[in-house]
Amino acid sequence: MNSELTQFDLEHVWHPYTSLTKPLPTYEVVSAHDNYLVLDDGRELIDGMSSWWACIHGYNVKELNDAVTEQIGKVSHVMFGGIRHESAARLAKKLVELAPGDLDYVFFADSGSVAVEVALKMALQYFSDKVKTKTKFLALGGGYHGDTFGAMSVTDPEGSMHSIYRDFLSKNYFISRPSCRFDEPWNPDSADELFNVLSEHHEEIAAVVLEPVVQGAGGMYFYHPEFLRRVRAYCSYFNVLLIADEIATGFGRTGKLFACSWAGITPDIMTVGKAITGGYMTLSAALCNEKVMKGICEGSAGVLMHGPTFMANPLATRVACASLDLLLSGNWRETVNHLEIRLKEYFLPLAAYENVEEVRVLGSIGVVQTRKPVNMAVLQKAFVEQGVWIRPFGRLIYVMLPYVTKDEHIRKLAEAVEYVLKNNLV
Ligand SMILES: *Cc1c(COP(=O)(O)O)cnc(C)c1O
Repeated sequence: MNSELTQFDLEHVWHPYTSLTKPLPTYEVVSAHDNYLVLDDGRELIDGMSSWWACIHGYNVKELNDAVTEQIGKVSHVMFGGIRHESAARLAKKLVELAPGDLDYVFFADSGSVAVEVALKMALQYFSDKVKTKTKFLALGGGYHGDTFGAMSVTDPEGSMHSIYRDFLSKNYFISRPSCRFDEPWNPDSADELFNVLSEHHEEIAAVVLEPVVQGAGGMYFYHPEFLRRVRAYCSYFNVLLIADEIATGFGRTGKLFACSWAGITPDIMTVGKAITGGYMTLSAALCNEKVMKGICEGSAGVLMHGPTFMANPLATRVACASLDLLLSGNWRETVNHLEIRLKEYFLPLAAYENVEEVRVLGSIGVVQTRKPVNMAVLQKAFVEQGVWIRPFGRLIYVMLPYVTKDEHIRKLAEAVEYVLKNNLV
C-alpha cells in the first residue's frame, strides 16, 4: 500500500496488544502461498507461525480456495435463527465423529474466545437449577482462554493482566500449572493441589477449565497427560464439569487429533477454533455431551442463551469442511510426527546456547525458552532479515509449523533462531 496508507495504519489502527502512541513496527504482507508470506518488497518469508496456529495447510490452498469460491456462488451468509444449511450440518457431523467420546452436540460461534464464553455459559446453565452455589470455575496458572471477559477470568491472572480490569472480572479459583512435564515420569504430587482445591470448594465450582497437555499463549508449556486423567477422575467424583479448550491444540497440532487423546479422556465440554477453517475464516465451536445438553434444555431456562450474528456462517463452515477433508485425506499423523522429528533434530541443539534456558518440542510445536525476556521488535527485524516469520513473546521464541513445512524450512527456521542467539540479540 502507498506510504500515506501505511502512515494511517501506524497512527490509527490498533494491532494486537500494542500502543498507538508507541506502535511496534509491522511488515506488509501482500500475498501468501504454501508456507511463505510475501512482503510488499517481494521478499518471501518462511512462515513459522501458521498465523497464530490457524493456517495448518499453509496459504492459498487450492482445495480451500475452491470451497470458498463455490460457496460464494451459493450463499455467503444467512442468519442461523430459523434457517439451516448444508455446510453447518456437515461440519457439525464431522466434528461429532472426530471429537473424543460422546461430545455429540455442537454450538457454532465466531471466534475462540466466544466459544469459551459459550462453554462457560453451558456449565453455569447446567448447574443453575441443580446446585445453585456452583457459579465459579477452576483454572490453571499459565492457562490462556481468550480476551473476552469470561475467557479472561479463567486465563492466568498475570498473563491476562487481571489487574487492569479487576473490578469488572469474575473471581475464579486458580491452581499452579501442573509441575510434572510431558516427558517426565509421572509424579503424583503434581495433582495434589487440584484435589485439595476441588475437595474444599467443589460446591462452588461448576467446571474445571484447561488447555489439555499444551498450554499455548500462556507459556508454551507441555504437561503430563496423567494430570488430565486425574482431572477427569476428580471432576466426575466431585460433580464438576470438565471443559477442555482445544482451540490451539485441535486438529493434529500436538500429534494427536485432539490433545485429550494423549490421556484418552473425554471432557464434558470441548472448544475448538483456530485451525478449524485452515485459517481461512474465523469460526469456532463448543461441543458438549448429552448430560450437559439435557441439563440445559430440560432446565428452567430451557434454552442455551447465546446466538451470534455470524453463527455457523456458510463460508466459514464450508471451508472448515474442506479443511477437515484435506487434513483427513492426507497422512496428518505421519506428517506431524515427521515435523516433530525434524524439529527435535534442528532445535534441540540450540539448548547449548548460554542465553537459552530450555528447548522443547511436541508435534509441530518447537519452543526455545530464553533466560531473559526478548525485545520483540529487535528479534522480529532480525528474523525478517533471515527470511523467516517468527514472532516471539516474553521469553519464548517458538514455531508452530504449517503441516506443509519441508525439512529444509525447519532447518532455516532453526538457523534463524540460532543467528539471534549467537549474536546475542536476546
Ligand atoms: C487463541 C485461543 C483462544 C482464543 O481464540 P480467539 O479466536 O483469539 O478468540 C482461546 N483458547 C485458546 C487455548 C487459544 O489458544
